[in-house]
Amino acid sequence: MSANGEGSSKVMKLLRAFVKPVVQELPLWLTIVITLVPMTWRNWDYHVLTLHDFAWELMDLTFTSMSVVAVPATLLVLLVSWLKHGKWLKYLLYAILLPFWLVNLFLWKNFSTTWLPQIIQLVLDTNQHESGEFLKAWIGAPGSMRAYFYTALTLVAIIIGERKRKSIASFLRRSVPTVIIAILLAAMLLWGVIMGRKFVMHYDSLYEVELAEIRMQSPDLISTLHASILALKFQAQEADAAVDLALRVAAEGPATCDADSLDLVLVIGESYNKRHSSLYGYQLDTSPLMRSERDKGLLTVFTDVVSPYNLTSISVKNMFSLNSLGRGERWYEQPFWFAVMRHAGWQVDMWGNQRYFMSNLVFSTSLNSVMFAPEYEGRVYHAVNEKPFRLDSTLVDDYYSKWEPSKHNLVVFHLMGQHTAYEYRYPQKPQWEKWTTADLPHADAPYLDEPRRQVILDYARATLYNDYVLSMILDHYRDRNAVVVMLSDHGEEVYDYRDFVERDHNPHKTPEMVHCENDIPLFIWCSPIYKSRNPERFAAIQAAASRPMMCDLIGQMMLWLGQVNSQWTDSTRNALHPAYQPAPRIIYDGIDYDQLVSGQR
Ligand SMILES: [Zn+2]
Repeated sequence: MSANGEGSSKVMKLLRAFVKPVVQELPLWLTIVITLVPMTWRNWDYHVLTLHDFAWELMDLTFTSMSVVAVPATLLVLLVSWLKHGKWLKYLLYAILLPFWLVNLFLWKNFSTTWLPQIIQLVLDTNQHESGEFLKAWIGAPGSMRAYFYTALTLVAIIIGERKRKSIASFLRRSVPTVIIAILLAAMLLWGVIMGRKFVMHYDSLYEVELAEIRMQSPDLISTLHASILALKFQAQEADAAVDLALRVAAEGPATCDADSLDLVLVIGESYNKRHSSLYGYQLDTSPLMRSERDKGLLTVFTDVVSPYNLTSISVKNMFSLNSLGRGERWYEQPFWFAVMRHAGWQVDMWGNQRYFMSNLVFSTSLNSVMFAPEYEGRVYHAVNEKPFRLDSTLVDDYYSKWEPSKHNLVVFHLMGQHTAYEYRYPQKPQWEKWTTADLPHADAPYLDEPRRQVILDYARATLYNDYVLSMILDHYRDRNAVVVMLSDHGEEVYDYRDFVERDHNPHKTPEMVHCENDIPLFIWCSPIYKSRNPERFAAIQAAASRPMMCDLIGQMMLWLGQVNSQWTDSTRNALHPAYQPAPRIIYDGIDYDQLVSGQR
């Protein structure tokens, strides 16, 4: 008995020693851990008040973000208790944390964001006069008032906590609280170190930063700041290279266009799993309008197209660039094909519904900084959209209300498509609330419950709505000489073969995973006028329907469709051309897609 008692008292002694710095300086430790995760609180705010779900996912994110911050917080309280004049360090920390908290509350309550690359950029770019005007406009806004209130509340809590600090500490020295705190603290520190390894990793590209941020996701300020600074660094390098290629290199040498008058449209969809489209055999008729275009002999459906990534930003950049991943070329090493088309006399318009979307995440700013580079306006683009819209149909209407077609007019639409959350991608009206969960194919899979079936149903409805949006676009070209190309940035998992939705960023890939996440739809619609004027081109398009291709080569198809002759035109990379030589389809920077799906690796 006594040996046991001694043993357990030794353990308690050890545990007390372990938690001591945190327990003694609990108000400071908590202030650090709470104020450095403002994005977490913003997410709770948003999900609980607006969406009423995903709470478990948020629990996980909350624990992760607090754990990442707990590591430096624990080191700091350790320092405060070790140093002879530690309380001055404590005052200094409070003096830094509180204004920081206020700024974050201000951004969160007014703009629903926290520290992000644009804010840093904004601060760097803003002069004194502008910031004066900005403050004047926002200092009394309702969001600002809430920010002041919460900051004041935090200050009061800190003062009370510091006054009662010693009695709190002596209460927490009891056995039960000590054991609980020790377990929690150990778990947080361990998890914080595991997830915090992203801070010491080596990065070679923005894609690697995006991937690490997704795999070790944590909405704390240290992570955001770390990713933002790296993003700014790589973005500057990659975007500078891309902008230079678009403005200078694309315009080098002669470029001409053989077509007399022609409209060309590229529609980039989002998170489109082609097996959920009736064009590709889905049992619900989710693509009735495109099916009827196919039955009229105007629409060619491509059956073997792959996207190299399952992330929007890096996929779209590779679609815009004339690079070939299978030949080892990066997207920022070759010019954008629409810049070459501009050089050949085409009018280029860019209408993107993901402009400003989730602008707190690296992937969004990294795409938008390239897609909507201010340098392009007027020099590459004739016109761009000013703002995004909740529904893709409104984006399309916005474009055609401002449409000024010239002789050779290209427009690129980047849609929201079937991006999560699917129920927001179609209008909540009876017309679009088609089918019930009982109509779904394979609805009896063991991992499917009613909420999951509802998600699949919402995906089907979003796909149906996308079909309508595409036909809205076609309606503008029925009496014109026109070609419309439609594809998706990547696929999506919608509980297809396992209990999983959206996209998996685990580096280990399986054939089922890449079939869902990397196989993409591609179809080309030719107007009746185009078909009758260009029978051999139409035949070439149809002959290519089952060729293996990857969407990084879409640019060569666009140049050929636009009948552009320039030094960048390369028929061996054009899947629509008889001279096409397919390159290995390398996905995720190193996996051979065809070897993976045929089980050869
Ligand atoms: Zn995407």
